[in-house]
Amino acid sequence: MAERSIPLIDHRQHSARPAVPLNAAAPDGLLADRRGRPLRDLRISVTDRCNFRCSYCMPKEVFDKEHRFLPHSELLSFEEITRLARLFTLHGVKKLRLTGGEPLLRKGLEHLIEQLAAIRADDGTPDGEPLDITLTTNASLLARKAAALKAAGLKRVTVSLDALDDAVFRRMNDVDFPVADVLAGIEAAVAVGLSPIKVNMVVKRGVNDQEIVPMARFFRENFGGKVVLRFIEYMDVGITNGWRMDEVLPSAQVVERIHQVFPLRALEPTQVGETAERWGYVDKVAGSHGEIGVISSVTNAFCGDCNRARLSTEGKLYLCLFASRGHDLRSLLRDPANYTDAQVASAIGLVWQDRDDRYSELRGSAAGDAAASAKVEMSYIGG
Ligand code: SAM
Ligand code: SF4
Ligand code: SF4
Repeated sequence: MAERSIPLIDHRQHSARPAVPLNAAAPDGLLADRRGRPLRDLRISVTDRCNFRCSYCMPKEVFDKEHRFLPHSELLSFEEITRLARLFTLHGVKKLRLTGGEPLLRKGLEHLIEQLAAIRADDGTPDGEPLDITLTTNASLLARKAAALKAAGLKRVTVSLDALDDAVFRRMNDVDFPVADVLAGIEAAVAVGLSPIKVNMVVKRGVNDQEIVPMARFFRENFGGKVVLRFIEYMDVGITNGWRMDEVLPSAQVVERIHQVFPLRALEPTQVGETAERWGYVDKVAGSHGEIGVISSVTNAFCGDCNRARLSTEGKLYLCLFASRGHDLRSLLRDPANYTDAQVASAIGLVWQDRDDRYSELRGSAAGDAAASAKVEMSYIGG
C-alpha cells in the first residue's frame, strides 16, 4: 500500500461561507434539493483523530507524526453541535450519526449525546419524537464506554470490523489491534441494549475477501440475533488511499459467495434512502438476526434517494461524501453579528436547496473525473 498512498489535499482551506438571508423564512421541514431530495440524516464528525490507520481511510504514510490534526479550538463545541443539530431538525432531519475519525476519542462524548437526546418537538423535531441517535465506531473503546453511552441516550451503534482472522485484521487496522477487543466491544454493546448493532465490513479484493463467509457464519451464529452484518464496497473516498477499481469486489459477488454456503433471498427495503440492500437467510438459525446487508456505493449508485448531509469536525457542511468543498457553518455561529437561529437555519436551507451532488452516479464520466481530483477525506467528514 505504501507506494500507492497519495498526499493529502488540505480541505480545511476549501470552503465557502453560506449567505445569510436578510429576511429569514421559517423552515417548514419540507426542504428539498435541486433533485427533489429531502434532508433527513445528519452525520456529525466529532473528531478528525483516530487510533487506527486503516489503509483505505487513513494510510499511515499520510496520517503520520507530521500530520497536523485540528487544534481543539477549531472543533465545534458540544453546544455548537447541539445548536446546529436542532436547526437541522427544523428542516426535517430525524437521524443523527456521530462519527469521525474515531468518535469515542472525543472526550466526554456522552455529554454531547445527552444534549442531542434532549432535542424534542418544542425546540426542533416537527412531530415531537426524539431523534434517532447512533454512532459509528471501531469499537476499540466500546467495552469501556457502552454503558455510559446508553445511559446518555444513544440508541444504537455501528461497529466496523473487517476480518475475524486476527492477522488479517491487525494488518488492516495497521496498528496491530486485536479482533478479540472489538468483539468484547460488541458484546458490551449487546449487554447494555445498544441494538440492533450493525457490523460493517469493508471488502477489499485480495486483502480480506476470504473473510466474507467466515464473517457471515460467525454473526449468523452468535450474539442471539442482535447483530446485522453488512458488507461495504471499498469506495474511492478521499484521494490518499490509492483506490483502484480492481480492488473492489462487487456486492453481487459477496452475495453469491455467501449464497453458495447459506442460501439467501432478497428482502424488501425498510425505508426510503436506505443505503443497504437486505438479504435474508433461507434457513434461519434460531436466535439469529437472519439477514445481511450489502452497500454497493460503487457498483449500484443510490444517489437518487440520498438524504444525508455531513458536518465536519470544525463545522463545515458537506452535501456529499465525495464533495470537494464545504459550507462553513462555524463562521456563522461565531460571527460577531450574533445571527439568530432563524437566520442560521435559513442559511442551511439555502445551501441544501442548491444541492445537486450525485457523485456515485457520475463516477467514471467526465463530470465524475473532474470532481474526483479533490475529494475530501472520509476521516475528516466521517462515514
Ligand atoms: N472510526 C469509525 C469507524 O471506523 O467505524 C468511524 C469513522 S469511519 C470513517 C466510518 C466508516 O467508513 C467505517 O465503517 C469505515 O469502514 C468506512 N470507510 C472508511 N473508508 C472507507 C472506504 N474507502 N470505503 C468504504 N468504507 C470506508
Ligand atoms: Fe479510523 Fe474508522 Fe478510518 Fe479506520 S475507518 S482509520 S477506524 S476513522
Ligand atoms: Fe449521496 Fe454523494 Fe453518496 Fe450519491 S455519492 S449517495 S449523493 S453521498
